[in-house]
Amino acid sequence: MELSTEWDPPEARARRQALVRQVSEEVGSRDVLDALGRVPRHLFVPAAPLDEAYGDHPVAIGFDQTISQPTVVGLMSEALALTGTERVLEIGTGSGYQAAVLGLLAKEVDTLEIVPDLTTRARRVLAELGLSNVHVHLGDGWAGLPEGAPYDRVVVTAAPDELPQALVDQLAEGGRLVLPVGPQKGDQRLLVLEKHGGALRRRDLGGVRFVPMVHGQG
Ligand code: SAH
Repeated sequence: MELSTEWDPPEARARRQALVRQVSEEVGSRDVLDALGRVPRHLFVPAAPLDEAYGDHPVAIGFDQTISQPTVVGLMSEALALTGTERVLEIGTGSGYQAAVLGLLAKEVDTLEIVPDLTTRARRVLAELGLSNVHVHLGDGWAGLPEGAPYDRVVVTAAPDELPQALVDQLAEGGRLVLPVGPQKGDQRLLVLEKHGGALRRRDLGGVRFVPMVHGQG
């Protein structure tokens, strides 16, 4: 992925490098850090000034939604343990930033968003970047995307109050599901679930704070 400097001025590149250095305090994967270094985050938050776009914190993207904190994007991408051959399902496209990062780390990405205007915007930015292996779908994450299943990896970037069974069903044997689970204002845990012989092995990466995964208007 090569971008024209019109879209990615030296100023943005410099801020992005500084951000990647900061994220590297918590994220060890070279591939993930490289991907964060290549995706021009400012294009996903066009209304925000550069220092907002490249701060290590969430940024508002409209519709009461936020683009996640870069360190959290890094940790979730790392937890997915991608090698470049995987098909990934993301729930919660939002700005499309996390999907773009995944597009550089995996073979194919389907990303599902419930707010129509966000899908339109994310599709446009991803197309501008030439990320043709990332496909934006309009729909409800609680149902997943049965037509694309099984997926090697599933990642959820909104917090469901309980584990969505459809996403477990759509995960391939040996596959990984990374998601925050918990109440909107209470204790959300970032979980890594691995499917083996129909059972789920579970690892808890700690407390997090995500916007809720809303129930079915989609
Ligand atoms: N990954 C995004 C940030 C996600 S914010 C990024 O990189 O910018 C969470 C997103 O999940 C919001 O856009 C919200 O609209 C979406 N969402 C919430 N509930 C959903 C559901 N049931 N199905 C699909 N998307 C949902």
